[in-house]
Amino acid sequence: MVKPLELKGKVFGRLKVLRRAKLASNKDGCSIWICRCSCGKTVTIVGKHLIRGTTKSCGCLRRDVISKLKLKNIAGKRFGSWKVLERCKNPNNKRTKWSCECECGVVRSVDASTLIRGISQSCYDCAKLDLESKKTKLKYQRKTRHYERLSK
Ligand SMILES: [Zn+2]
Ligand SMILES: [Zn+2]
Repeated sequence: MVKPLELKGKVFGRLKVLRRAKLASNKDGCSIWICRCSCGKTVTIVGKHLIRGTTKSCGCLRRDVISKLKLKNIAGKRFGSWKVLERCKNPNNKRTKWSCECECGVVRSVDASTLIRGISQSCYDCAKLDLESKKTKLKYQRKTRHYERLSK
C-alpha cells in the first residue's frame, strides 16, 4: 500500500487543503481532502487531482475565465470554422451572442460561451458534413484494416 500523501495545509491554485475527509478514500482508494476555495466555498477533492493540478478551484476559476471572456471583445477571432463578426444587439437576450460567419459563408448568431468552450465550431450544415466525413473515414479505415488482414 502506498502511504497517502500529507496534503494538509498545502495550497493548490485557489484551494487550501484543510483536512482529510472523513470518508478518507473513494472507491479507487484515492485520498479525499476537504479544501477551502478562495471564494469561500468548501469542497472535497480527490488528492491526485490536486497534485496533478487538474483541480485548482471549486469550479469558480473556470466560471471566472468564461465570464471574463464573455465580456471580452472577441470580434475577429476564430473558433473552429467560425469567424466572429460582431456582437448581436439583442437587449431581450441576457446571453451574449455574437454573429459569426462560417467558412461556408453562412452567418449565424452564436452564444459566446458555446464558442469559448468549443461546443460550436461551425454552422449546423458544416458540422453535419464534418461528422459524415469522419464516419466515412472510419469506415474506410476499417475496410483497409480488413484487407490488410486478408493479405497477410
Ligand atoms: Zn471557488
Ligand atoms: Zn458552414
